[in-house]
Amino acid sequence: MSVIVQKYGGSSVADLTRIGRVADRVAAARREGDQVVVVVSAMGKTTDQLLAMAREVSATPPRRELDMLLSVGERITMALLAIALQRRGEDAISFTGSQSGILTNDRHFDARIIEVRPFRIEDELARGRVVIVAGYQGMSYRREITTLGRGGSDTTAVALAAALRADRCEIYSDVDGVYTADPRVVTGAVHLPAIGYTELQEMAEAGAKVLNAEAVAFAKRERIEIHARRTDDAPGDPKARETIVRADVAPAPQRVRAVAGDVNVAWLRGPGDALALLDVAEAQGVPLRSVEAAGGSVQAWVSLPRVPEWERARDAFAAAGFATETDAASVTVVGDGLTEEASVLRDTLACVRAAGAEVRGVSSSSFRIIVAVDRSLADDVTRALHARFCAA
Ligand code: ADP
Ligand code: ASP
Ligand code: MG
Repeated sequence: MSVIVQKYGGSSVADLTRIGRVADRVAAARREGDQVVVVVSAMGKTTDQLLAMAREVSATPPRRELDMLLSVGERITMALLAIALQRRGEDAISFTGSQSGILTNDRHFDARIIEVRPFRIEDELARGRVVIVAGYQGMSYRREITTLGRGGSDTTAVALAAALRADRCEIYSDVDGVYTADPRVVTGAVHLPAIGYTELQEMAEAGAKVLNAEAVAFAKRERIEIHARRTDDAPGDPKARETIVRADVAPAPQRVRAVAGDVNVAWLRGPGDALALLDVAEAQGVPLRSVEAAGGSVQAWVSLPRVPEWERARDAFAAAGFATETDAASVTVVGDGLTEEASVLRDTLACVRAAGAEVRGVSSSSFRIIVAVDRSLADDVTRALHARFCAA
């Protein structure tokens, strides 16, 4: 009997009707004879709402208490889905992250999974039950409840697929897979039937939230294939598409796979050396993207959803001489072998200028070119770069 892990994101379980539809899908998968583990996210915008409530109480809510609060969102969904399945005659049981044996480090709000001990899940599967797991959460070795960073239910799904040696890991959302850009921003974004781990990880780090970056990194390490699908496509519909995330995908035309913009960022810049910047970042628990230093000045990007107490961190960076530019956004060209020929970088910069934006900063590697532009122009620049490199 094969084990399938299915994950349903917030929009797929946004209300009771949608939870009922997910229950129908899960029951259908169970009838195929598979053992099914279902990972769920919080309903709709619940996590954002809980976070906003905490922020109303305090501008710098303690991370431990945030985890206590935010982990509730997924527990609501897991229980409702288990109830909906039982109502349909399916034997189902729900588990929190800690009951599922998801052990993490003790970095609250942005914890990393260290180990998964899924004994209770295995026991219940052996009893013929569907197991519903609350995504996005675990327990630290100190027995504290932790959460896995925004979008972390994807990570729960991949980690469980690895620990259970699942035959398939399916991630359901409101899009039928990964596109060459966010289809909400670029109308002509092209569907990708397959994408490699490294490219998708770069996209996720660049702000494409279709899959969580940590989940993709986990899948790469454990060699888990991810099937990204749309919840509203009927199971078995021959017209339904998916993206398979796996190793050994053929290179993209012109080496560029996708373009991703991120306006939810702060750009740190200042005189000094990288070590001074990193010392503040470590003291404040702020993860940095693309740290670069030259000629006595240093710069780095911060993804704001990863830092709940940003105001305090921003002040600490400022006290050390690092200014935050909040009117900047990053637009990232993602691919493989981008620095093999100078033309990709040259064309990128020329295209940004032709779109009417100033190149405020640039950094490049084989897998990405990050351009800093005015926040108000981020979507225009994304569309222009997509038209230049990725249009069908
Ligand atoms: P879920 O709540 O199910 O986890 P998310 O909202 O996290 O779903 O991710 C799906 C969203 O990701 C889509 O609605 C889409 O707008 C966005 N997205 C951003 N970049 C891309 C991309 N390159 N391909 C597909 N979707 C993308
Ligand atoms: N509910 C969490 C979030 O909104 C986790 C997830 O959806 O994957 O970030
Ligand atoms: Mg998500």
